[in-house]
Amino acid sequence: APKIIGLTGGIGSGKTTVAKFIEDCGFPVYYSDDRAKDIVNDNEDLKLKIKALLGQQAYDDKGLYDRKFVSEIVFNDNELLQALNEIIHPAVRIDFEEWVKDQKKYLVFKETALLFELKLNRQCHRSILVTAEDNIRIKRVMDRDGKTYREVQTVMEKQMPEKEKIKLADCIIYNNTNLDDLKDQTEKVIFEIE
Ligand code: ATP
Repeated sequence: APKIIGLTGGIGSGKTTVAKFIEDCGFPVYYSDDRAKDIVNDNEDLKLKIKALLGQQAYDDKGLYDRKFVSEIVFNDNELLQALNEIIHPAVRIDFEEWVKDQKKYLVFKETALLFELKLNRQCHRSILVTAEDNIRIKRVMDRDGKTYREVQTVMEKQMPEKEKIKLADCIIYNNTNLDDLKDQTEKVIFEIE
């Protein structure tokens, strides 16, 4: 079985950019968020559970997951959000295990914003954290998504503090400068994993 390397970072840290560099090096990356978006549409058992929790309206008339409706109803209801996550997260975990079985490389990477929050690092051989100063991350997300400073900051405040993540991570990539530097650090980290 391949060794699983967890890759994480908060909003705008650059984890997706690092994941692309890892793919450029020839290693497969599982993108948990993207996969979760597919699973809510493809997994019939999961669809039933989501409808039972949130109502039929969680899916539109074409049978597709209505992200806007769901985010609106869970936005101010933490218990409901938690219940939804308790349905989705195990399904992603199973999907990941299936995906790993198909991989042929000796290292595979799992990109997830919630590596430490969900204690997924326990299933990983190593964990990599991508981090950068708050202001830099906020600026990058403002440029990428057209969000306001305050909007990005609100998301950031809900995430696990960087200090805690830094304590838990095996390898840390500091993404405060340019993309060339980020690529160099990424290659160095992959090379040093044994
Ligand atoms: P999110 O969790 O919000 O999806 P992320 O951690 O996946 O974010 P990325 O999307 O990789 O972060 O990076 C955020 C933005 O910053 C992107 O537009 C990316 O191109 C840009 N970016 C990342 N690192 C750098 C860098 N070193 N120099 C310049 N731009 C960067």
